Amino acid sequence: MPEVKDRVGESPIIGVVYAVRRYAASEYRYVGITTKTVGIRSRQHLKSARAGRKTPFCDWIRAHDSESEEVYFEPVELVAGDRLVDLGLAEQRWIAKLRAEGHRLLNLSDGGLGPRGYVWTEAQRAAAGQRSRGRTRPDIGSGSDHPSWGTRRSDEQRAKWSVQRKGMNAGERNPNFGKFGPEHPKFGHRMSEESKARLSEMRKGELNPNFGKSASAETRTRMSIARKGKKMPSSRRSAHTRYHSNKDVFKDTCAYCVEDRQNT
Ligand SMILES: [Zn+2]
Repeated sequence: MPEVKDRVGESPIIGVVYAVRRYAASEYRYVGITTKTVGIRSRQHLKSARAGRKTPFCDWIRAHDSESEEVYFEPVELVAGDRLVDLGLAEQRWIAKLRAEGHRLLNLSDGGLGPRGYVWTEAQRAAAGQRSRGRTRPDIGSGSDHPSWGTRRSDEQRAKWSVQRKGMNAGERNPNFGKFGPEHPKFGHRMSEESKARLSEMRKGELNPNFGKSASAETRTRMSIARKGKKMPSSRRSAHTRYHSNKDVFKDTCAYCVEDRQNT
C-alpha cells in the first residue's frame, strides 16, 4: 500500500495507540489512544482506578496493579495523520485485530473518536447496530504485514518531533517532580523476578541502547566530577564482598560470585 506509506512519511504524529497487559503475560486486556505520552495517560488510568472508578478496565487495574504484579502500558503504534479521527481509526483497527486474535479486551466500545460527550439516543444506537451487523473490519496485520512496516519518517520530520518532545518530562514538567516517599506513585512498588528478568533480557548486549558506545571525554569528565568525594569500593573484589557476599546476592556477571559458587 504505497499510498499509506507516503502519507505516513509526510504527516505529523497525532498520537499513540497503546495496549495494556500484565507485565508477565502476553494477553492484552485493553487498547487506548492518547495525544500525550503513554506515560502520562497510564498515570491517569492508574489514578482513576485507585480512586475507585467502576469500569471493567479499572476493576482489572485494581486487581493487578499490586506489589507482586505490574500493569504495563505498551505503545503499539505511533499514528501519523492529518486528522484526529485517524487516531480513532487506528484504535478501532487495534481493538478489532486483538479481539480477532482472541485477546479478551475490556474495552467497552470498539474504539474510535466520536464527538466527545455526545450521548446517542436508543434509536441512533439501534440504527448504527443494524448498519454494522455483518460488517467486517480489515485485518491490518502485524510485522511485515503492517502498513507501516519498513517505512521510516524523514530526517526532517524526526528532527521536528525530537524538538517538540525534548524536555517533556524533565525537571518540574515531570508529573512526579518533587514527589518522594509515599507521595511517589512507585513508592513501595516491587517488580516481580519474572518482570525483572524480562526487562533484563530486553536490554542485554546489542539490544542495549549504549551497546558499543563509549562516553565522550567531556561526559567522562563530568561523571568523574560527580563521583568526587563519594565512597566507592576500591576494587571489584571489595565491591563483590560489600554488595554480593555480605548481602547474600548472586550475580552471574560477577567473576567472584561465580568463583565462590564453584568453591562451595
Ligand atoms: Zn559478586
